[in-house]
Amino acid sequence: MNAHDSERVAGLLEDAGYVRAADGETPDLVVFNTCAVRENAADRLYGNLGHLLPVKKSHKGMQIAVGGCLAQMERTQITRRAPWVDVVYGTHNIGALPALLERARERHEAQAEFEETLTTFPSLLPARRESPYSAWVSISVGCNNTCTFCIVPSLRGREKDRRPGDILDEISSLVSDGVLEVTLLGQNVNSYGAEFGDRRAFSKLLRACGQLEGLERVRFTSPHPRDFTDDVIEAMAQTPNVMPSLHMPLQSGSDTVLKAMRRAYRRDRYLAILDNVRRQLPHAAITTDIIVGFPGETERDFEDTLDVVRQARFASAFTFRYSIRPSTPAATMDDQVPAGAVQERYERLVALVEEIATAENARLNGSTVEVLVAEGEGRKDAATHRMSGRARDNRLVHFAPHATAPRPGDIVTTVVTGTAPHYLVADDAPLEVRRTRAGDVWAGREGAAASGASAPVPVLLGMPARRG
Ligand code: SF4
Repeated sequence: MNAHDSERVAGLLEDAGYVRAADGETPDLVVFNTCAVRENAADRLYGNLGHLLPVKKSHKGMQIAVGGCLAQMERTQITRRAPWVDVVYGTHNIGALPALLERARERHEAQAEFEETLTTFPSLLPARRESPYSAWVSISVGCNNTCTFCIVPSLRGREKDRRPGDILDEISSLVSDGVLEVTLLGQNVNSYGAEFGDRRAFSKLLRACGQLEGLERVRFTSPHPRDFTDDVIEAMAQTPNVMPSLHMPLQSGSDTVLKAMRRAYRRDRYLAILDNVRRQLPHAAITTDIIVGFPGETERDFEDTLDVVRQARFASAFTFRYSIRPSTPAATMDDQVPAGAVQERYERLVALVEEIATAENARLNGSTVEVLVAEGEGRKDAATHRMSGRARDNRLVHFAPHATAPRPGDIVTTVVTGTAPHYLVADDAPLEVRRTRAGDVWAGREGAAASGASAPVPVLLGMPARRG
């Protein structure tokens, strides 16, 4: 969500006439798009702002803006603690950024703007998409849940759903530009429709995506187990371009802890969802998020988490040591777990997750995978000149292109020759390389960049958010 908001900010500023600062050049504008879910987010922001102060002093006219969840939380505290900041804007005010920058310049004083509710859906703002082959598409913002460890609902507000027609129009327009893959985004993606009263809206949306010609891969993040109904699993299984991968946040395998977290499902329900997914999508890779050391978690509770992890056989897991997030209900719970115990449990969990991921990946040795070649995940190995991309189940694949020359956005079919806990390796020559229009677009952009004609964008510093 945070990364996609950065694309919107970039698009808006580009529309307003800003251009990207060249490498090594001091920018006239720096925008921090903050994420309050990250640990020590405020310390990191003020540390970064402190580093920029001497730069700003020596670069006349430079402006600094701070937006995102942390800005919504800290509000004018930011300009009090860092008076050299020019603009602070809330999560519902992205569209106001260019006007606020201009006003700050004209009036020579800091500007701040915060709305309590969303009036313009961010998807209506222009975007500067970084990838020509893969795109984020917001279907909802905000969340109606009240997980006790999470700050999101108080900063992003209640869930607002976009109309299905608007979402499909945006996807169609992306596909006509060459995009092959979309990831549908929402804080709680499968409660989509709650606002306009259609409990099956998410499965209908998946099926509608299946009708869009040229759209090869549909993903979504993040679902909530409470709302993960059978019609969604059926839609996934019956819609060929919906990928066999599922990120399903567990958070804890203990019913007691889930209750304290105010997560409205229990371990049996969670495991039953996974069984149903595996019955209908036998090759699905299932990943998760787990928090260790939530207040009140006992050794017994933690062992319940290990037990669910053993049964669920996750392809990978984002594991987190619980740490206090100010202004959340869990922050003031009495029975905080000592740091030493949290660390010890965390290490045991990571070891188990790695052991299972290693075994699950090893089962894929010798199988054929279809890889969407990615930029950035890059050439990992100078000796084999491996390139990288994502398989249909979202596993990372490092493959040797041999004499073929796929570009980011092309599709490579190859055979897995080796595995590791976090990726697959394919060192034989690819069976097929399918050149796509997305690959052509990528090559066109590279050519333009090499000739110094790259599309200009402002400088943005984004912090990716943890999934909830
Ligand atoms: Fe909503 Fe996810 Fe936060 Fe829970 S963790 S309140 S579902 S955003």
